[in-house]
Amino acid sequence: MDSWWNPAVEYQAMDRIHRLGQHRPVEAIKLVIEDSIESRIVQLQEKKSAMVDATLSTDDSAMGRLTPDDTLNSRLRFPCSAVTTYRTRRVDAFLSFAFTERARKLKCRAEAGSGPSNSFLLIGSRVPHLKYAPPALLGSSHNKEGDLWIIVDSKVYDLSRFANLHPGGPNVLYVDSVAGKDATNAFFALHRQEVLHRPQYARLQIGHIRGEAAVVKPLTGDDLSTVPYAEPAFLSEGYSSPYYTDSHRRFQKAVRRFVVEYVFPDALECEESGKRISQEVVDKMGELGIIAMRLGPGKHLKGLTLMGGIVTPEEFDYFHELIIHFELARTGTRGYMDGLLAGGVIGIPPVLNFGRPEVRDRVVPELLSGKKFISLAISEAFAGSDVSGLQTEAKKEGDEWVITGTKKWITNGHFSDYFTVACRADTGYVAILVPRSDAVSTKPIKTAYSPTAGTAFVTFNKARVPVANTLGKEGQGMHVILSNFNHERWMIACTSLRTQRLVVEESLLWVNQRQIFGKTLGAQAVVRAKLAVMIERVESAQSWLEHITHQMNNMSYAEQSDKLAGPIALLKQYITRTGRETAEDATQIFGGRGITKTGMGRVIENYHRTSPYDAILGGAEDVLGDLGVRQALKKMPKTARL
Ligand SMILES: Cc1cc2nc3c(=O)[nH]c(=O)nc-3n(C[C@H](O)[C@H](O)[C@H](O)COP(=O)(O)OP(=O)(O)OC[C@H]3O[C@@H](n4cnc5c(N)ncnc54)[C@H](O)[C@@H]3O)c2cc1C
Repeated sequence: MDSWWNPAVEYQAMDRIHRLGQHRPVEAIKLVIEDSIESRIVQLQEKKSAMVDATLSTDDSAMGRLTPDDTLNSRLRFPCSAVTTYRTRRVDAFLSFAFTERARKLKCRAEAGSGPSNSFLLIGSRVPHLKYAPPALLGSSHNKEGDLWIIVDSKVYDLSRFANLHPGGPNVLYVDSVAGKDATNAFFALHRQEVLHRPQYARLQIGHIRGEAAVVKPLTGDDLSTVPYAEPAFLSEGYSSPYYTDSHRRFQKAVRRFVVEYVFPDALECEESGKRISQEVVDKMGELGIIAMRLGPGKHLKGLTLMGGIVTPEEFDYFHELIIHFELARTGTRGYMDGLLAGGVIGIPPVLNFGRPEVRDRVVPELLSGKKFISLAISEAFAGSDVSGLQTEAKKEGDEWVITGTKKWITNGHFSDYFTVACRADTGYVAILVPRSDAVSTKPIKTAYSPTAGTAFVTFNKARVPVANTLGKEGQGMHVILSNFNHERWMIACTSLRTQRLVVEESLLWVNQRQIFGKTLGAQAVVRAKLAVMIERVESAQSWLEHITHQMNNMSYAEQSDKLAGPIALLKQYITRTGRETAEDATQIFGGRGITKTGMGRVIENYHRTSPYDAILGGAEDVLGDLGVRQALKKMPKTARL
């Protein structure tokens, strides 16, 4: 025990240790919970400790932990609480005087006197050991009916008051193997480690076991997972890759930090609430150039500072872009992934590549900075795989298009300011940039994934748009639409594959900690066989994806359209089909948790529910398989025979 406990409290604490069934000393620690009253209390305590140290010790550096303002802040000046004894009041007065003297010596402007605050209790009779303790720790004990302290990974939690709120009921906490015991294994068999870090649960921690350190380390910042196959080989210790340079690795670190810090918390919240992604995340993405980088390398990056300058627009390539899609996919929140401006990834390129300069130069900066949103509106109830069946009509009246029709399942449509619309005109197909107006209405469509994607049914009711908003040439709308598909399909392949890898990581962790029939799940050969094919699918797809990405880096846009349309179609079909097999396997491995939205199987449930999206969006699997083979047959040499 720390010497600052007064004897009575110390006695109670020893009793708690006894009750815990541990002959190990418990050390009270300071808990810091951001933005909570506790964190404020802890901050104040730290300042007060610094004042005491500065007063009593000869260590001048203690004063450095205070600002001049602190020395003037009466709330910080050795307050006496209602329960402070005469003795401590004298100590208080002494300290107040000594501190002021010391502050004066150190040329800090401190004022004499003590404030009336009773927010802290000054404890201790031995002046050299004076410390402050949060009132919550005083007077509590672990010797009454209903008291419940447990240890998880060397940390001590007081669950006495929480027990009745425990989602699994209080009884499971009072069983002999948990109450007053080291319940680490029992905890991790049933909870994700992130539970411990939620403020409402983190505040239940009252101490930790002296001399022991936590073993379970959450990944933070740009940490890489050390679970086998959890990271692509180029990020795994001891492996090398011909495709990635130091620039890619630096970039990956920066993107991961950004995603962990800004995107992940927003993703968890919006995926659940269905709300649109936060403007703070959008603004940050705009500022870092992420919205622009998700469109691939090109002129649109010129003049932008990318990820704070970590990569220049000239060196940015498709592997950098792949890294962005990979890192975003690690959130394991499929609806949010589409909500995160996927509409822009497919809706901006036609404006960028085919828009008239005056329209493009006005609209694109608004879109790349995240001030405005856009979506791609091709599909209709009448036309999905068969784009040529679309019925939305564009009629020319003077120098305006008048657009009438409906579009179905338009990602981000519900909050878009612009729509890149495929229409049928007298001269053939035409693509037109349509701004939101009174003649454009959007209605959300409920799908199996989160409404955060903003999937909408869009109606154009005689929407009038200047002819200058035509994208490409009239009659060549189909070329504009088709030229967009390769990049979209490649992007879906990236996100689907990276989510599968996440599923593999979660599954390996789960089989390693789930105890069943007296062993871990990983001890079952059938389970290991499932994992084997899951890993094989991910690793083979990764190699193929990287091979195609390398070709994209070395081909012009026109060459990509000619040579890669087929391979990208086949790659996407392969990744989404194997993805659904992996989703099935993982769901079996997780059992009931694999079909439960929260908790241990959160990622698996999400992927199992949403992997069909990858198989349908941007071109349905069967259609893409067919396209890939048709492209190959088209290129069969006339001279070749068996
Ligand atoms: C959530 C969501 C978001 C979407 N976002 C957008 C968006 O932002 N913009 C947009 O324009 N569209 C969007 N779509 C539409 C999407 O692109 C289409 O759903 C997709 O192209 C398939 O069209 P369909 O649903 O009409 O299926 P259909 O064309 O009716 O096809 C049904 C099935 O028939 C089979 N099939 C069809 N043709 C063939 C063939 N030739 N050979 C073999 N099998 C075939 C396939 O298995 C296919 O899955 C979205 C859809 C969803 C569900």
